[in-house]
This record gives sequence, C-alpha cells and structure tokens, in this order.
Amino acid sequence: MSDIIRLLPDSVANQIAAGEVIQRPASAVKELLENAIDAGGDSIELIVKDSGKTLIQIIDNGCGMSPTDARMSFERHATSKIKTADDLFRIRTLGFRGEALASIAAIAQVELKTRRHEDELGTHLLIEGSSVKSQQPCACPTGTSLMIKNLFFNVPARRNFLKSDPAELRHIIDEFQRVSLVNPSISFSFINNGKPLFQLPHSGLKQRIANVMGSGNYEKLIPVNQETEVVKVSGFIGKPENARKTKGEQYFFANNRYIRHPYLNHAVEEAFKDLIPEGYFPSYFIYLEVDPAHIDINIHPTKTEVNFQDHQSIYAILRSAVRASIGKFSLSSTLDFETEPMFSFNFPKDRPIVEPGIHINPEFNPFVKNPQPELRLSQGEYRKSSGVNQWEKLYEEIKQEENEQLLSRQSLTIDSDFGADRQADRGFMQFQNRYIVTKVKSGLMLIDQQAAHERVLFERYLERIEQKKGMAQQQLFPQTVSLSASDTELVNELIGEISLLGFIIEPFGKNTFIVNGTPADLPNENIQELLENVLENYKNNQLGLKLDRKSNLARSMARNLAIKPGKALMTDEMQSLVDDLFSCSVPNLSPSGKNVTTLISAEEIENRFLK
Ligand code: ADP
Ligand code: MG
Repeated sequence: MSDIIRLLPDSVANQIAAGEVIQRPASAVKELLENAIDAGGDSIELIVKDSGKTLIQIIDNGCGMSPTDARMSFERHATSKIKTADDLFRIRTLGFRGEALASIAAIAQVELKTRRHEDELGTHLLIEGSSVKSQQPCACPTGTSLMIKNLFFNVPARRNFLKSDPAELRHIIDEFQRVSLVNPSISFSFINNGKPLFQLPHSGLKQRIANVMGSGNYEKLIPVNQETEVVKVSGFIGKPENARKTKGEQYFFANNRYIRHPYLNHAVEEAFKDLIPEGYFPSYFIYLEVDPAHIDINIHPTKTEVNFQDHQSIYAILRSAVRASIGKFSLSSTLDFETEPMFSFNFPKDRPIVEPGIHINPEFNPFVKNPQPELRLSQGEYRKSSGVNQWEKLYEEIKQEENEQLLSRQSLTIDSDFGADRQADRGFMQFQNRYIVTKVKSGLMLIDQQAAHERVLFERYLERIEQKKGMAQQQLFPQTVSLSASDTELVNELIGEISLLGFIIEPFGKNTFIVNGTPADLPNENIQELLENVLENYKNNQLGLKLDRKSNLARSMARNLAIKPGKALMTDEMQSLVDDLFSCSVPNLSPSGKNVTTLISAEEIENRFLK
C-alpha cells in the first residue's frame, strides 16, 4: 500500500485556521482595525454593509505596503511585527501571529489597495478563497484600504450560523468601541448601510470616552491616576451616583488592549463598596500599563483573558487608586469611608436583580400524585403540566371558601366582633409583606407575591407580543430616552415587539428614542430606567437561556415590573393577584421556574397538634 499522509494545501489549512480566528464579521473588523492601528496612521474609517455580512471596509492613512508586502501579507504566518521568538516578550503591536489576513482571504473575496508614502503608485490586489485573482499598479492615497466582501461565501455552515443583522452589528460595535477607547489620538468613523453610527474626532481620552458612550457622560467621569513600579493605572471612573444597573460600561485595557479580568473587576467594585446600592454597577474605563514581560497576553486572537505576574499587587494598587479618586473628586472633604455611608440613594433597595437561577424541587408538587419535573431546563420554558386541571379545582376551592364566608357572615349578626380584620375576613393575609396566605379546603396556601406577579405579567405580555390581545395605550407628553449604542441596536431589533407591548416609541437620531405612549397598565415608571433594566435582563437571558425573543422580552418586562417583596398589599390587590394567577396557564411556576405556591396541608397542621 502506498503512503497516505499528505500536507494540506494552504487554502485548506487557512480555512481551518480561519474557523478559529474569524468567527463572525466582528472578528474580522477587530483584526483589520488592529492592523490599521499598527500601521501608525491617525485616521481610520470603518464601512460596513449588512452588519459586515456583505461588506467590511477599513481605510487607514498608515504606512501602506509595497506591492510585494501586499502580496506577502496574505500568506500564512506572514508578519512584519516579530522576527525572533524573543520579540514575543517585547511585543507592543496588536497583531503578530500573521494569521488574520491569510484567514480572511481564505473565506472571503478581498480587495486591497495600498500605497506607501515613498511610492508614487500603489498596488491593487484581488484575492478570492486564498487565490490571487489579479494584482496591478493603481493610483490611490497613501495608506491602506481593505475590502472584505461576502464573508464566509465558501463556508455556508458558518454563514448560516450567523445571527440576525442587529445582533452581528452589536458585536461589531463592541469591537469598535473597545478599539476606539484606547486610541483617542486616532480619529475614527463608522458607517453601517450608509448611516453614520460613530464620528470620533481625535481628542483627549475623557472626550473620547464621552463620544463613544454618549456625550452626556462627560460630566460623570472622574480621573484615576496612580503610577507605581508594578503598574501604571490611568483612566476614568463614573461617579458613584451614576452607577447603573447594567454592566455595559466596564472596560479594562492592558497595554492598550481590551481585556476582561474578573479579579481586577472585583478590586474596582470593592472600591465602590457601600457607595452604590446592591445590584448596581460602577462604570469604569481603566488603562493598565505593565512591563510586557510581566503579562501573559493570551495569544489566541479571539480571547481577552490575560494573566499578570503580579496580580495581587495590581489588585491592591487599583483598589486604592479608585478609592482615592472617588474621595478626591466626587465627594466633599467630609468623606469618611470607614464610618457612615455618604449617600442616601433614591434607588429602591428592595429591587434586587438577582438573576433567576432555575431551581425546581421535583419532589414537591402538592397537586400531582406522582410529581414530574415540568421544566425543560435547557429551554427554560415550560410544558403545561398535566396538573392544570388540578389548579382549576384548587381555584374553585378558594372561591368556594370565600362564598361560604360571605354566606355565613350574612346569616350572622354578631360578625362585627370578628370583622375588624378585613384581610382575614376575606381569606387573604399577607405575611412578611412577601407571601399571601390563603385558606383552601385542603390546607393553608402560601403564595410568593413576586413570583405570582411575574407569572401573571409574563403571560399577559407574551399574549400581547404574540398579538393574541390588543393593548390599550396611554398617551404621554413625549419623552426622550437615550441609550448606549448597543442598547439602541437592541431596541431597533425589538421595536416591533416593544410596540405590541403598548409602547409608542420611535427612533430619534443618535441613540435616542421618543416615547409618546406607554402600556395603559404600566405603573408610573421612569421609562429610561425601565428600558435599560429590561434590556439588561434581556441580554442576560440571551446569554444564559437561549429564549426566543418574544418570551425573553415578556420575561424581562415581567421581571422588572412585578411587585417585589416588601410591598404591602391591600386585600383587593391580593384578591385580584390570586384571581389573575389562577387564570394563568401555568400558575404554579414563575417564568424562571421558581415555585409560586406552596401548601401546608390540613393533615400536616393537625399532626402538629397531636402529642
Ligand atoms: P499580523 O497583524 O499578526 O502581523 P496580519 O495577517 O493581520 O498579521 O497582517 C500581516 C501583515 O500585513 C502585517 O504584519 C503588516 O505588515 C501587514 N499589514 C496588514 N494590514 C496592514 C495595514 N492596514 N497597513 C499596513 N500594513 C498592513
Ligand atoms: Mg493583524
């Protein structure tokens, strides 16, 4: 038998490598932006069509390439950035593996125009699926323009795997923001489908942060600076009173590269401790400079994790630097961190945003003889249980109790002696401002008020979004709401569903919306805050639970608008909540799978009195 091992052709090897490096349009954008920065110019334009699926173009005014380099740059392991292995420990450029262009050329149609300052003519190169189609001299400005068309044209599996345009665009925005936040001296623009999303003139860092995040942020930033031998810390933090319920504005950069670092994040949150309410997150844009020899940048291009040799010292330095800044800039000289908390916040403390973990107790369901877990955990959605009829029966029991009470009261004349407590009268009582206690034939039932209300709202909102029921709307004085760029994209993506919920909302220029109306049954809410919270919830659910859009939105709304523990309820409120609950299709579980009710059986109670 003949030998069977062969070397893979380059085009195949590149395609395999591309699978790792270029997962979505945003990965290509990141690589190209980094190349443009490494090229040393001061102006970068990003043009995208259909969220990068049909076109990504990056134009820079950097050093450009010679005709030979232009061709070489698409070879695998072709880089100008390192020569020897030792260089790896001194690396200051963003790229060095020499893989990005080779990978991109393997899975797209690429058109490059580039010219160096010293050359009179540039070069024009066309490549498709790793093979060079043509190369010719051309007249073009100095610098480089690279167009990537039809990404994944020859990898349909990848292409089909891409998310909706708004979702892919959000990824691109994330990458663009991370890169532009470290290079304030470079001007950036970003155009999607002919519409400018960002115009960032070169500026100081504070102004850049405000331009990227929304100009309202400028006043909210306070500087952080601390230089030590181990690390130089600089950047800005948001004032404590501007803490948000979303984690979106938390950025670390190490040696000008965006990184994620939960441990250092903890250092910052520690510094803010006691100054912001639980469930809120500080904003920060923190730049760390360390000796490149003391940092292990994960060389995988899509990873953002790094290891610092001296992470414990960096933690301590960072925490004290942030604390010092808060003390110096945001608070008066009376600040004393150790004793009393300085602020009284308007934020209601009783609105924790504990992410709903799915927790069920399959052992316990008082209404089904042989209980079965009802959750498809992976989906986070519920099948109707065969016990639904049992619910109807139980509800009838409750109603019957009420009627009997009413009858007996009418026939008795001495009820006034007992009638003082109207709550008990009607069979509803609130316990710890958290549970509703009610009698049923078979015992005492406790209903978790938050879980119950979430279930009711969830089904109501879902019904609206699925257009099974029209929604009354309440006109408002128009209010404007301004959101982060990525939340703006999300609202654009969900605007149909949001309107079905009863909001009258339209885009109004850069990252703002006008709200002309809200659902008639919406309590007096701060719409800006409500939207931000709902979107945050939506994004969290998207990450963890893979819900479809409609259930996710309904669930996020329900989560934010449900009454919380601590809210005292009037008897009629309890009554109507219980009525609403038992007309739900799945009254026994909250949307996130928590038990809504529990029953203490008459038998159990009796047993307690037996001795
Ligand atoms: P790496 O960035 O890891 O070196 P790439 O595949 O991204 O690898 O790029 C290969 C080479 O092409 C770079 O090392 C650089 O010399 C050159 N190059 C890429 N993009 C540009 C650009 N915009 N301007 C000038 N040179 C570039
Ligand atoms: Mg590169």
